[in-house]
Amino acid sequence: MTPEEIVALVKAAGIVGAGGAGFPTHVKLAAKDVDTVIANGAECEPMLRCDQQLMAAHPALVIRGMRLVMQAVGARRGLIALKAHYHDAIAALSAELERQKGTSEAADWPVDLHIIEKSTYPAGDEFCLVYEVTGRLIPEAGLPLNVGCIVQNVGTLANIARAADDGQPVTHRYVTINGEVATPKTVRAPIGMTFDKVLELAGGFTRSPSELKVVVGGPMTGHLVPDLTTETITKTTGGILVLPVENEVVRFMSRSLELWTKRGKASCDQCRDCTVLCPRHLLGHGFSPHEIMRAGAYGINVKNDVLTAAVLCCECRLCEAYSCPLELSPMQFYRKMKRELAAAGWKNDIHHRADLTVEEFREDRLVPTERLVARLGVGTYHVWPVAWDESDVHADRVCISLKQHIGVPAVPSVAVGDDVAVGQLIGSPAEGKLGACVHASISGHVVSVSDKTVVIES
Ligand code: SF4
Ligand code: SF4
Repeated sequence: MTPEEIVALVKAAGIVGAGGAGFPTHVKLAAKDVDTVIANGAECEPMLRCDQQLMAAHPALVIRGMRLVMQAVGARRGLIALKAHYHDAIAALSAELERQKGTSEAADWPVDLHIIEKSTYPAGDEFCLVYEVTGRLIPEAGLPLNVGCIVQNVGTLANIARAADDGQPVTHRYVTINGEVATPKTVRAPIGMTFDKVLELAGGFTRSPSELKVVVGGPMTGHLVPDLTTETITKTTGGILVLPVENEVVRFMSRSLELWTKRGKASCDQCRDCTVLCPRHLLGHGFSPHEIMRAGAYGINVKNDVLTAAVLCCECRLCEAYSCPLELSPMQFYRKMKRELAAAGWKNDIHHRADLTVEEFREDRLVPTERLVARLGVGTYHVWPVAWDESDVHADRVCISLKQHIGVPAVPSVAVGDDVAVGQLIGSPAEGKLGACVHASISGHVVSVSDKTVVIES
């Protein structure tokens, strides 16, 4: 397959970054001057399992996807990065690589494992991962591409392999259902299925719903779900977590921006713990979270670049959930500032330093996952068994979002009353716009179409 053919099939299959951001993958694969492709199997969010389980169950798909990406961008080195304690995934990938040894594919597009010995958060952040794997430092507000790398989530790679070899577009998503459910498990759910139905696949709640809250995503970068009957699976949904209302994660996620701001202004003692542990600061990026707190509290004599440095925060939530001894959140200030800068049409032409120096004590300041897990109060859920269940999931009705990705929403190409088959194209981005195609995840009739969703009933 030529690079152009790979890019075209990835575009047609509607593949987007499965790790959370949802950047359209075909755009990434059009890159050149790449020497290293990194498969992100770090899965650093506590309680999630779908990536490690996928690597263990389908090592051939991950490796195949990796080689297709390498071919598309012309990279001669492929590294699958995963943590040392993902024993099943390491065993499966190693066995598959061994089996393929001596083939022309393996010779032309060599793939190896990169084992991350220490389990820390946020190991899966692209800036941290590229440094961990290659020793290269992505410039401030830059991309892995700036240092010759492309990072793809392992789920994205599996989707690329399925599209190339079986012509399958993205219609389903591996989702870990964990926490206060009868049978924690990872399922392969149709996109557009509502959360209340997905939770039934795990046997439902173990307590009264009034005692629980549901988080979509991980306990660090996810958010609370207000309504389980309207929230639906998308191409980037990695986890549905059910937590007691008194849990730390729920307590923090329930706080309003107003409250965060008020507390920050009143209480920050400028101890600098948020700065000392900030993963981007540790990589030498020119910002210090305690300074935005000072700006929030006093607002005078503040250098503009203290405020605009908000664009350097990756919103990993470490400062809020772990570092600050007073339960304050520089991240919320940065988030607010980002919104204000965007509303003012501000363009970043100052935070692009590439001459970075890693902080001397970085290695000792990385936050161990087990300490984070303890702080979040999710220790039990983090370690208990989560089943891997790939059996077919039936959905009577799906409400498929036309914007599950970065860019413009897809324009629907079906109308109410149409019959559609699973895998059929139902929406595409407008010509020349950044976006991704969307496909039917079940066969049935289209019962509703808007500029936001297509609803299909079987
Ligand atoms: S926000 Fe918290 S960690 Fe940061 S300087 Fe203030 S008190 Fe210290
Ligand atoms: S969320 Fe906090 S710890 Fe994470 S990058 Fe932003 S300031 Fe640093």
